[in-house]
Amino acid sequence: MCGIFGISNHKEAARLTYLGLYALQHRGEESAGIVVRHGKKIEIHKGMGLVGDVFTERDIKSLRGDLAIGHVRYSTTGSSSTKNIQPYFVRHKKDKIVIAHNGNLTNSFELRNEMEQDGSIFQTTMDSEIIAHLLARSRKSDTEENIANALSQLEGAYSLVLMLGELLIGARDIYGWRPLCLGRLDGAYVLASETCALDLIQAQYIRDIEPGEIVFIDKGNVKSINISPETLSPKARLASCIFEYIYFARPDSNIFGHNVYKTRKSLGRQLARECPADCDIVMPIPDSGNYAALGFSKECGIPFEVGMIRNHYVGRTFIQPSQFIRDFRVKVKLNPIRDVLKGKRVVIVEDSIVRGTTSKIRVKTIRESGAKEVHMRVSCPPLRFPCFYGIDFPTKKELIASRHSIDWVRDFIGADSLEYLSLEGMLKAMPLPKNHFCTACFNGDYPTKLPKKLGKGALEY
Ligand code: 5GP
Ligand code: MG
Repeated sequence: MCGIFGISNHKEAARLTYLGLYALQHRGEESAGIVVRHGKKIEIHKGMGLVGDVFTERDIKSLRGDLAIGHVRYSTTGSSSTKNIQPYFVRHKKDKIVIAHNGNLTNSFELRNEMEQDGSIFQTTMDSEIIAHLLARSRKSDTEENIANALSQLEGAYSLVLMLGELLIGARDIYGWRPLCLGRLDGAYVLASETCALDLIQAQYIRDIEPGEIVFIDKGNVKSINISPETLSPKARLASCIFEYIYFARPDSNIFGHNVYKTRKSLGRQLARECPADCDIVMPIPDSGNYAALGFSKECGIPFEVGMIRNHYVGRTFIQPSQFIRDFRVKVKLNPIRDVLKGKRVVIVEDSIVRGTTSKIRVKTIRESGAKEVHMRVSCPPLRFPCFYGIDFPTKKELIASRHSIDWVRDFIGADSLEYLSLEGMLKAMPLPKNHFCTACFNGDYPTKLPKKLGKGALEY
């Protein structure tokens, strides 16, 4: 997963990009980068870590120019090293190419293989470098055709923000997997993964970039074309990532044209209709479970309580306690409120169970805090299949529900009961028709051919 941002025609381009990335931080905490164009010069600043740590006021001041793009990364392909920090920048005789990519290509192995056999040399392990090579190789006479030609060779998921010469370019794959929207701020145009980034800089939301659309922003002008439809596979269909609504996107964002918070709440309502629980209180696992829990409580009329408080200041690293403290890493993040939980029959609502390891610890903590019964309800179906389109569900083995029955998972996490929302129920709660979504992680219905070279053991038990 990743967050991408771009702005054209604003004298504070880098500063606004920094703020945009700040709003998109949840989409990737591993690294951050900004590239600006100043006259003919390109300036870059990137580093490992959070946006707030990678950039100082001085860095931002030194990034002059009115065209900028930025990226926050959560590695899915390519190792986690400084070489792989985006945006990816290369000089080419045609132009300077800068790429920020969210998603995962499924034909990168083939494309890369072909190009390497042809003599290309790759310096990173990122999909984005492949895109740069395709752009550089394209022999079409004009820029628009060149880009469309390059992008039409990609298979899989990509939302892209590119800088090519003085152009800012936004594109979404034909399936519409990852979000990307267009906004406006005075005379400037903005591209961002989610609308929460527009809100922070007070840009006005214009519209989403359509699946299969490329927009060319030349200062105050926007031109839109399609990724050459004649090359599209006849099987192509819409496949927006349903997990963006369930977990990934920020609840204050609108993605795919609809609000995330309201969607999560309606998932919670549907969950309460399908899987009621005879309990005294409903509580979320904060923060990701908050919205589904609220919907659940509204629907069934059982009071909503906050039974656990999240410490928002926990960073990636901290000085470890000198004495052994059981489950320290989890404890430091969430602390139960004993006075709320004591003697209660509790239903905890969680957005999803991936590996089951944190859920197990939460259930145990809630029990230790005096809860009489602990029931768990999950606002999406069991995750059983790995994602090849950008979400970090790497292998079947690691997805607890792919190897085990629901009863087994219930016993593993130590709950008195465990129920998941059905696939039909999840789709019913969505603000868009069901044929709009990719649900491969739940039912294995992959919209594209699977990558030739899968991650080690991806589909094995
Ligand atoms: P588990 O109990 O499976 O170990 O953890 C489930 C929790 O992980 C849920 O609270 C959910 O919000 C969170 N989660 C779901 N998907 C992802 C993901 O792709 N990355 C991370 N870091 N957390 C996730
Ligand atoms: Mg969570």
